[in-house]
Amino acid sequence: MANHLTILARQWKSADENDELPEALYDALVGENNTAYERRVIKALSRATRIVNNDGSIRDFSELVKDWEYSHSVYGHTSVCQACGKKDIVQNCYLKNKEDGVTELIVGSTCVFRYMEIVIDGILLEGEEKEEWLRVEMNAAKREFRRQMFLARYPTVMGDLERYEPLTHHYSNFGVKRTYRYRYNPIGKLFKAMGKRMVKFGYPGPQLEDDWARFMNSAEDRLTEHNDFMEQANKERLIREENSRLLQTEREDRWTLELERQTAERDEKASDFLTHTAPLEATMNQWEQNARLQIADRLRKGTPLRGYTNTVKEWQNRISVMDGAEVEHPVFKQLEELDESTLNDWEKNFRQSIMARLAGGRELTKKQASAIARMMKGKAGSIAE
Ligand SMILES: [Zn+2]
Repeated sequence: MANHLTILARQWKSADENDELPEALYDALVGENNTAYERRVIKALSRATRIVNNDGSIRDFSELVKDWEYSHSVYGHTSVCQACGKKDIVQNCYLKNKEDGVTELIVGSTCVFRYMEIVIDGILLEGEEKEEWLRVEMNAAKREFRRQMFLARYPTVMGDLERYEPLTHHYSNFGVKRTYRYRYNPIGKLFKAMGKRMVKFGYPGPQLEDDWARFMNSAEDRLTEHNDFMEQANKERLIREENSRLLQTEREDRWTLELERQTAERDEKASDFLTHTAPLEATMNQWEQNARLQIADRLRKGTPLRGYTNTVKEWQNRISVMDGAEVEHPVFKQLEELDESTLNDWEKNFRQSIMARLAGGRELTKKQASAIARMMKGKAGSIAE
């Protein structure tokens, strides 16, 4: 007897797996007290899963409905509820069979709400909480649908945001100086909004999508125009830079020439000075000889003569005396007529220095006058007192 039942159970189980159980069995399962809707659901879900146990007994519906697990929702693909048969369901809830891990059912949210257990973080959702949770799933599905629809219309949107980024800056040239500046423009605003939406939602809102569509209509033309403008601006900038570089070189050349001219002029002054004062050299003491070289050096460098100014004046006078300058002064005449061969070195220098002093228009001090008088005494050709 038991053996016979085991064989029968095995046959039923196999028939169940091959979906070959008699229709009458499913009809019996749905029960007579249920509504037409409930009967449709029970029948559909029973058919889609295992209803025969190993021992040949039939599983209860409340038990076999737990074979199904909510997976995710999809929006926008209208189809028929595979539980109740309702057409054009808005929210397509995907159910997965935990028993075989493969079978999938697409069911409307009403059937999910009524028959599926939804457990979130270990808490079984019921009533309004369950409804709210399904609504949130629906909204996520809607966003995903809109994202996909938008990407179907604008598959290159991310690349376009990059490609047309240069247009977010408005370049123009101002006035005669033709300097190029840029400022933020309305396209920048559009790109900022698009970037934000794409990161957050993956698609723009209706108004923003309109703006994007309008922009994309002329984007390529604008980019060409922009690139032409930038190319031209760049050319002009290069020309300006080249011109200013040439001007700079010209200025530098002029400055170098001027420096060379000034150096040559100073060299000439120094060399003239040395030539001019050369006849005095023999009569110069050591200090004067050094001073002469120092002065030449200063003239060459263009630094001021300072303390040497009077020395130079005195030499000037000495030279004019040597050149035979006419000085209307009795002492000058006397010294001029003095025979140099009768003088010692000191006297020679003294005579020269006094004559230079008089040639420079200066008067003699009393000391100088008496020194001259002493020197003249007894000299040949001197005027007796
Ligand atoms: Zn349904």
